[in-house]
Amino acid sequence: MSQSFSIQENFNLSDYNTMGIAAKARYFCSVQSIEALQSLLADSRFQDTPNFMMGGGSNVLFIRDYDGLVIHMDIKGISIDQEDGEDITLNVGAGENWHNLVLHSVEKGWGGIENLSLIPGSVGAAPIQNIGAYGVELEEVFESLEAVEVKTGELKSFNKEECRFGYRDSIFKNELKGLFVITGVKLKLQKSPKVNTSYRALSDKLEEKGIRNPSIKDISKAVIEIRQSKLPDPAEIGNTGSFFKNPVISKEQFDELQSTYPDIPSYPAGDKIKVPAAWLIDQCGWKGKRFGDAGVHKMQALVIVNYGNATGEEIWNLAQRIQVSVKERFGVSLTPEVNIVS
Ligand SMILES: Cc1cc2nc3c(=O)[nH]c(=O)nc-3n(C[C@H](O)[C@H](O)[C@H](O)COP(=O)(O)OP(=O)(O)OC[C@H]3O[C@@H](n4cnc5c(N)ncnc54)[C@H](O)[C@@H]3O)c2cc1C
Repeated sequence: MSQSFSIQENFNLSDYNTMGIAAKARYFCSVQSIEALQSLLADSRFQDTPNFMMGGGSNVLFIRDYDGLVIHMDIKGISIDQEDGEDITLNVGAGENWHNLVLHSVEKGWGGIENLSLIPGSVGAAPIQNIGAYGVELEEVFESLEAVEVKTGELKSFNKEECRFGYRDSIFKNELKGLFVITGVKLKLQKSPKVNTSYRALSDKLEEKGIRNPSIKDISKAVIEIRQSKLPDPAEIGNTGSFFKNPVISKEQFDELQSTYPDIPSYPAGDKIKVPAAWLIDQCGWKGKRFGDAGVHKMQALVIVNYGNATGEEIWNLAQRIQVSVKERFGVSLTPEVNIVS
């Protein structure tokens, strides 16, 4: 394994974040091995320099140039850790592309992540917010991960419990934020997959296609079709998918809102209620609004877009105005799902 790394200075990040923000990193370095990462973290030149870890840049917003070291995760590899009659456990490098892993698994007939098809980004970032879509979350197949501690360079292992997964959440967005670099993830997939078609849009799509007993390949294809019809492609228009999390509110607050807005959609979330952020934003009239090159997507109120040359600050100002208007009208706080880097 190589321990070498090369540092680039004043590096334009526009090709490294799906919002297409042309922020500059003071230093930028891609790492292809754990050893290279450890050497970089120990390098005396960067001991007093802030650092930020990046995978595919599909869930970050740079508000301004980053006066520090951006580390780009590029550790590759998919290998079988264990296999029995029922399950197969994979070790996957954090720099692998998530969707490629899904396609690889579907092709091999290993089930569990087909509902998470076409989510952009890297495998290493998937546990950070416990990625989820179409009725499935990463934690359902997650076994453990390995991560290097930024301060000591030590490699540590975290099991599922230690990751404290929640809705678009984990310990790495909270207590351990910025303290560990995930280098590899272990996932347990099924060799005789049980498909999950519980999500309404997915079951409707399968019915529309006349598929009664879907295979994991059918599920993956259906999810890809739905996503391509609903979400803007970052290759065509800069975006980070859902900008905000769906707020989870108390039953009392929901009942009060429902008495004023009888059409308000909702989903149960334990003893609380989840309300679609897209509906709240749409009700406030933001869908399709454009201010210079920053805007709210015309089909999807939850997606903030960069029509070309918007700055991170312009996107963030728009996001904050949306937060204020939703708070004023509904009394509900919207929390960004996107990681804001300033
Ligand atoms: C069009 C579109 C659709 C999307 N749909 C979904 C969806 O359906 N469900 C969903 O959950 N998400 C979705 N997302 C969000 C995004 O794809 C996921 O959050 C993804 O996991 C981010 O991966 P990334 O490699 O791009 O992470 P980045 O954007 O590079 O980083 C995200 C965060 O993770 C940290 N990080 C990244 N890699 C590491 C590492 N190796 N070690 C430690 N920290 C790290 C970063 O510091 C940052 O805080 C969507 C995004 C887009 C653009």
